[in-house]
Amino acid sequence: MSYLLSATRLLTFTTCPRAYQFRYELKLPGRPLRTPQLGLALHRALQQFYRWPGAAAEGPSRAFLQTCWAGASARLEAPEQQRGAEILERYFQRHVSPLQGWRQPLAVEGRLKAPLAVEGERGIVELTIIGRCDRLEYLEPESSATGQTARLHLIEYKTGQLHRSPDTLKLDLQLGLYQIAIRHRYQASLAKVSHVYLAADEVLSYAVAPAQESASRAHALELVEQLLEAKDWACKSGPHCRTCAYRSYCPAWQDPPTALPTQALIGVKSLQLSLPLSSATIN
Ligand code: SF4
Repeated sequence: MSYLLSATRLLTFTTCPRAYQFRYELKLPGRPLRTPQLGLALHRALQQFYRWPGAAAEGPSRAFLQTCWAGASARLEAPEQQRGAEILERYFQRHVSPLQGWRQPLAVEGRLKAPLAVEGERGIVELTIIGRCDRLEYLEPESSATGQTARLHLIEYKTGQLHRSPDTLKLDLQLGLYQIAIRHRYQASLAKVSHVYLAADEVLSYAVAPAQESASRAHALELVEQLLEAKDWACKSGPHCRTCAYRSYCPAWQDPPTALPTQALIGVKSLQLSLPLSSATIN
């Protein structure tokens, strides 16, 4: 069994080992966060839109997008339905109307999974990279002396606030891990990632450099080594605590903290007994 690794997991551990323990090792439910219903509905509508089954070169129409939205937004309140309809109308005008011909995406709401073996001082550790993408498209292939290399463009819809200066650590990890997973799944290189901020009507795009793959491997290995050695899951408090779903259990936030559910306490013991040094079997 290999250790599941995603950019979110890597980041959670880097941000706060204790939060990682609560979420992934003890699998605590955590304090429920507000569910962004409008965002979920927008994702669903675009997912259906880009799975358009037609074959016409001009692609799906505005009316089809409106139909997708009507289905996806059926449970929303009227003001949110209206807001979503406006957001999608702007999206259509900017991203669909100007297209010169329609090309079916390579994947919509695709799940990415790829094995990755990293070798360190403790031997070989087997990982499974996991992730998902909202949409994957072909870019023009790159020509070289040895032939043409397929290049892909990964698109993610963002329904929160626009961040012009994204967390560079988070971005590097995401790009590097996506690159590895996409090469494994599609035998192509990931050349570009775009974050489409739907409400703000802005797109931030990032070129992916080949060097990010090796950097991401090194970071993954470092993380696995740290996880294997993690004994006390130290609290790393900071501004991120304000949005931590587990803060009621955390001694750094609440004194005394809420007692952990019994099941979780059992998990703590078995966790420390189940860490082999040559391969990670935590999950
Ligand atoms: S409240 Fe802060 S220190 Fe405590 S687990 Fe959450 S992120 Fe870590």
